[in-house]
Amino acid sequence: MMQERLQLLFSREQIEQRIRELAELISADYTGRHVAIVGVLKGCFVFLADLIRHLNVDITVDFVQVASYGSRRETAGACTLVKDLGIDIDGRDVLIIEDIIDTGLTLSNLIADLRVRAPASIRVCALLNKQARRRVAVAVDYVGFEVEDVFVVGCGLDFSERYRGLPGIYALLPDEPA
Ligand code: 5GP
Repeated sequence: MMQERLQLLFSREQIEQRIRELAELISADYTGRHVAIVGVLKGCFVFLADLIRHLNVDITVDFVQVASYGSRRETAGACTLVKDLGIDIDGRDVLIIEDIIDTGLTLSNLIADLRVRAPASIRVCALLNKQARRRVAVAVDYVGFEVEDVFVVGCGLDFSERYRGLPGIYALLPDEPA
């Protein structure tokens, strides 16, 4: 079995501070409006729970889940909605909450899908952004942290369903040979 090691990229304190800053920006941009928060499962749930507790605007929260086919570390092109929204977003201000934007394929497919439902606006908030890996252009309106081209875990992000509960964000690296 391959051994892995974790290297801390962002501590819980750094993440909490950045989430408070993001919440301030979002609250200012949406003053007096009602925001339909759309979380992308599963990775978003920790970030989303932290973020919404700092927001100063009216919100509703719902989730989608996108199945991507490919190896565990890579996203292939095809995406299917395996869990759809339970709310109507016609005429609503939608804020998509993602854990990480990598190639951008998941997000661009999701935005295309949601646009058909005629929301008033769609914006995106991601905890992490891997700009170097982008394959399709997508506008990410609020970004917690930029990361290099490394595989990251913690704060909701997994590797084969492990590590989601880690409070910090870590790079998952192959163990160095002894
Ligand atoms: P994209 O479609 O932008 O390539 O990939 C988005 C999804 O791939 C994310 O929502 C996440 O589920 C997964 N992903 C991409 N990069 C990473 C990473 O570094 N760590 C983890 N845990 N998941 C990632």
